Amino acid sequence: MPLSDRRVAASTDPLTLEESDAPRAAAPAKKKAKAEEKPKTVVKTADKLAKLGLKSDIDLVLHLPMRYEDETSLMPIGELIPGDIAQTEGVVFDNEIAYRPRRQLLVKIHDDAGDELTLRFLNFYGSQVKQMAHGVRLRVRGDVRGGFFGLEMVHPAVRPVDDDTPLPQALTPVYPSTAGISQAYLRRAIDNAITRVDLPELLPAPIAKAHLQPLNVPALLDAVKTLHHPRADSDETALIDGTHPAWTRIKFEELLAQQLSLKRAHEERRTRAAPAMPRRAADDDASLVVRLLRALPFALTGAQQRVVAEIAGELTLAHPMQRLLQGDVGSGKTIVAALAAAQAIDSGYQAALMAPTEILAEQHARKLRGWLEPLGVTVAWLAGSLKAKEKRAALEAAALGTAKLVIGTHAIIQDAVEFARLGLVIVDEQHRFGVAQRLALRAKAQNAADGRHDFQPHQLMMSATPIPRTLAMTYYADLDVSTIDELPPGRTPILTKIVSDARRNEIIGRVREAALTGRQVYWVCPLIEESETLQLQTAVETYETLVATLPELRVGLVHGRLAPAEKAAVMDAFSRNEVQLLVATTVIEVGVDVPNASLMVIEHAERFGLAQLHQLRGRVGRGSAASVCVLMYANPLSQTARSRLQTMRETTDGFEIARRDLEIRGPGEFLGARQSGEAMLRFASLENDGWLIEPARAAADQMLAQFPDAVTRHLARWLGAREHYLKA
Ligand code: ADP
Ligand code: MG
Repeated sequence: MPLSDRRVAASTDPLTLEESDAPRAAAPAKKKAKAEEKPKTVVKTADKLAKLGLKSDIDLVLHLPMRYEDETSLMPIGELIPGDIAQTEGVVFDNEIAYRPRRQLLVKIHDDAGDELTLRFLNFYGSQVKQMAHGVRLRVRGDVRGGFFGLEMVHPAVRPVDDDTPLPQALTPVYPSTAGISQAYLRRAIDNAITRVDLPELLPAPIAKAHLQPLNVPALLDAVKTLHHPRADSDETALIDGTHPAWTRIKFEELLAQQLSLKRAHEERRTRAAPAMPRRAADDDASLVVRLLRALPFALTGAQQRVVAEIAGELTLAHPMQRLLQGDVGSGKTIVAALAAAQAIDSGYQAALMAPTEILAEQHARKLRGWLEPLGVTVAWLAGSLKAKEKRAALEAAALGTAKLVIGTHAIIQDAVEFARLGLVIVDEQHRFGVAQRLALRAKAQNAADGRHDFQPHQLMMSATPIPRTLAMTYYADLDVSTIDELPPGRTPILTKIVSDARRNEIIGRVREAALTGRQVYWVCPLIEESETLQLQTAVETYETLVATLPELRVGLVHGRLAPAEKAAVMDAFSRNEVQLLVATTVIEVGVDVPNASLMVIEHAERFGLAQLHQLRGRVGRGSAASVCVLMYANPLSQTARSRLQTMRETTDGFEIARRDLEIRGPGEFLGARQSGEAMLRFASLENDGWLIEPARAAADQMLAQFPDAVTRHLARWLGAREHYLKA
């Protein structure tokens, strides 16, 4: 490892410079003495820097600006425009502390043309009052506002200057920071680090030639220097929007690190141990898998058979599976999960299934119990709402191993839960869980499988939000993916209608008709993101209105504030057709499965995102009756809302919807909870730098094959501590 990439020793702490304005080359001995004089401050600052991930010189050098401020020119006061951020200069002609409407410092300056600007400070020190005394020339930078008494800036950055104080020649970098660390301090620490570090190129020549040269980017050290101190003639726009070749160089390095890391994690998993779970012969009457398949009231679709085979094959291996099972809403992922669990149980291990909401977990529990308990398997249920006694029983069953399958919410990953022999972890709607939660579940199993601490369970993650290819490449390069691309037979396509809420009465008429012919109906209440209380109130009002308007129907209400037992009771009644019309908030968004429901009305559909609408709509079209989904909207309709609704009308294909959703929203929002691959990126973003992924991937493949040492060095430099996210 090159010297420069090593951690700096505490005594050469770059931070001791904080208290000194001494030139950069201050003698180390002196710095050390200073550090000892004021240990507290130094430690605190170092802690703060460490929080930013800045522990070594190399960290500082790679702490790149998040934006730039243009302080290279001055705007005459007369040309300031409210709403702009601007820099100007003028001489103080008035300085007073006002007490109404509150205590504040008002400083007035005018420039040579005689135009005036008020500087307003709501918090200030006595020293500032003095600094901005009559006759002092001030250079100020801030947001221009049109105030009551003319132009003003509130809390501008202020610096006393002479009339010949030069302006900076280059853009001023603004660094990501944290409370207690000033930009000026960071700049100094970084500039100092740059003088100490030589940042050698780490890419082996053949890699650079094949993958870097075509990009036409500068050497690494040049790139870094350009970004910290752009020359006056640099392309400002490109620097600011991140398209400058210097940025491209950095982003390529980072994406390369990400690809290397994901691929290495993938390879490294093959060296870890997991319980091997052999497949049983298709006629083995003692096998739970075989008995479950025999007992099913339906035959698996071709796609289900394929993914079951993929999963079953990997479970037989003695290294941990880490597989994403993606399949559209209603494609039948649950039985695939059940079969995987059965294979684990056949081999004498336990399986755990975790779902993001209690309603969903409850549905899984009901379904899997229905399949497995008749075959003699004990299923335990674990959720936050359990009574202490029930909870104790469930915990005991998990710990003793009498429960072969444990189903629940993230209650499963809480400390008290222990497993006897956990061999398989299944996570439904995995994108709703963060990396940390997945890590916790895995850690739980680590010391559980067979009492072997080096064991890791197999992991199966399920998602109904299909991931477009470029995203899969960056976010999930460490996962294997199985895809169900076929719906079970006998589903009639869902007809989607977009209807203005002016036609509400007509729609209510349709609901009555449908219910009276034996069908069941969902009525989804508007999403009110700002206020849960308001949303609840709306749901209750909608419920009361519908009860009053449709006295001949049995109407139920389900929302997030109901106690879990009440929720479960309503859902139960609905699945037994005792409730014909279910008024619901988005709590029914995921996983609810009532095949007889064939009409859904979504109020204020324009407020929902595409993925959410698709999930909601997936609650109907599960039985043999032709299903209808009514997207009721209120005017005015924004352009994006309109294109979302049109997409919903045009297709029911989850992959197509995901593709358009990505187009409309961009990848950051699309994925929801942070994924492992994303957590590693500081500079590159998929919105803007997607084109760099393919070259980075190609370079990663070649580097892993030919230059393993370079891989290690590259990862240490670019990821450092961040890499642990990957282990999720
Ligand atoms: P999702 O992939 O959305 O989790 P589910 O597993 O809930 O879908 O399955 C949706 C419905 O389809 C369930 O009622 C399930 O029992 C049923 N189902 C699953 N596979 C088949 C199949 N091969 N044939 C018929 N029905 C099936
Ligand atoms: Mg499901």
